[in-house]
Amino acid sequence: MVNSFYYNGSQYIPRSENDGIKGFLLASMASSTIMSTLPAFGKPFNNQLIKEHSRNDFYKDAFIKSINISGLDKLGVKINPAQYFNDMSDVCCGQNATYTPSKKIITINTDKISIAGFHEAGHALNDLKGKFGKILSKLRYPGYVAAAWMGLVAMFSRSKPKDAPRDAMDIVKDNCGKIAFACWLPTVIEEGMASYKGIKLAKKTGLAKPLIKNMKKLYAKALLTYAGYATATGLAVGAASMIMDYFTRPKKVNDDLFSQEFF
Ligand SMILES: [Zn+2]
Repeated sequence: MVNSFYYNGSQYIPRSENDGIKGFLLASMASSTIMSTLPAFGKPFNNQLIKEHSRNDFYKDAFIKSINISGLDKLGVKINPAQYFNDMSDVCCGQNATYTPSKKIITINTDKISIAGFHEAGHALNDLKGKFGKILSKLRYPGYVAAAWMGLVAMFSRSKPKDAPRDAMDIVKDNCGKIAFACWLPTVIEEGMASYKGIKLAKKTGLAKPLIKNMKKLYAKALLTYAGYATATGLAVGAASMIMDYFTRPKKVNDDLFSQEFF
């Protein structure tokens, strides 16, 4: 109890370096265990997307038409057919599709996953036609960066006693799990909006009801993937933070313990 200090009339013991290391290791383990559940969230989506390769013909013409129907062609949006890429990328193999706002290009293998194209067109509509969607899509990348920072903040040691006044940094430290989750929300909401608009657009192309139904299923699974990222990141950061708090926050000297040790 050599280094103990007083705060607000109570005696506290700062934590040892050893405690800090233990906390750091446990916090790293806990967060990586939680993050390892991520592939499970994406699995239903990936499985269905592969199955869609054999149903592509039902969707292809409607998707290509949808660019005109939505007016996206007049706004400069183009399809970049990924089947002609000479590489083994996810996009070329029909396991992913993307919309690039800076180039107004939907990159997609239209010989395999045209069903996903409507969702990408939905991203283009968010970006080019809706104010709210545009704001959300601009927040995506900063959100990822901030969520990653929260992962780092969670690993900082907590040098102040629990009841010490909080400054801005302490508030961030205390809430880093919730903040990390919130940082993912623009992405989750924008993804949901892109799917909603994509389905609406698909209906306009005259796609048959069972095909729309199948598409809704795929899009719901895609949203589950993003919601999974948000939840797992929030929980992983929150768990790491709780563990670091437990191992590094100065301990109040318990009156009973004090009397046992000294008397
Ligand atoms: Zn998307």
